[in-house]
Amino acid sequence: MDEPKYKRVLLKISGEALAGEKHFGLDFGVMGQVADVIKECVEMGVQVGIVIGGGNFWRGVKNGEGYIERTRADHMGMLATAMNCMAMADVLEQKGVDVRVQTALEIKEVAEPYIRARAIRHLEKGRVVIFGCGIGSPFFSTDTAAVLRAAEIGADVILLAKNIDGVYNCDPAKFADAKKFDSITYDDVLAQHLSVMDSTATSLSMDNHIPVLVFALKDPYNIIRALRGEKIGTIVKEA
Ligand code: UDP
Repeated sequence: MDEPKYKRVLLKISGEALAGEKHFGLDFGVMGQVADVIKECVEMGVQVGIVIGGGNFWRGVKNGEGYIERTRADHMGMLATAMNCMAMADVLEQKGVDVRVQTALEIKEVAEPYIRARAIRHLEKGRVVIFGCGIGSPFFSTDTAAVLRAAEIGADVILLAKNIDGVYNCDPAKFADAKKFDSITYDDVLAQHLSVMDSTATSLSMDNHIPVLVFALKDPYNIIRALRGEKIGTIVKEA
């Protein structure tokens, strides 16, 4: 097989993607399919870091607003990501993949704390590293955490697995004539307020020149297609 296009990737999986059709909790059928593909990536020689969201259990603003103080609600969101990371790690291990979970908030009885050098060592040994608890601070998203970890580990690309198959000029669920971009600049995403990821995450990827490939996780094999350099989804990059 041809050399993979990318040697080290940061895969971002939203919590909701792990919930499948249920939109809440965990769908182990979906997680099993995702794990099979991640295993294949590792077998291709690609180093894989993963950031997982928590929206299938709790989102700070969406679920907490009006009931729970914002920073505490965000702490709950970060703990939700940790649950997803532990579940994903277990599913991967059941398939024989060597995996480590590192969390930005210390939960040392259940996971390693995030230590960059250690994460890189794991990656070099062919272990998948799953980064939990976002960046460890409230008022941020796991998309921003994905960009930050990608910058820290020197990932070639961020693979942003979504419930939608790319970036559109408007919401395709609402507008039949919505147009999908093959490629778009960070500047255009920011200027047009396109809902790919939040503006903090977009500007962090822009400032650090990390391309972001947005694609649908509905077919997890898209991850392999992306590694082979096939045209899928939308790439957000410099002009
Ligand atoms: N969160 C946070 N800081 C971070 C990352 C996440 O406070 O660095 C909290 C925030 O409340 C967020 C929740 O964790 O709503 C779950 O993360 P996110 O919404 O990004 O998950 P996803 O939408 O990707 O499932």
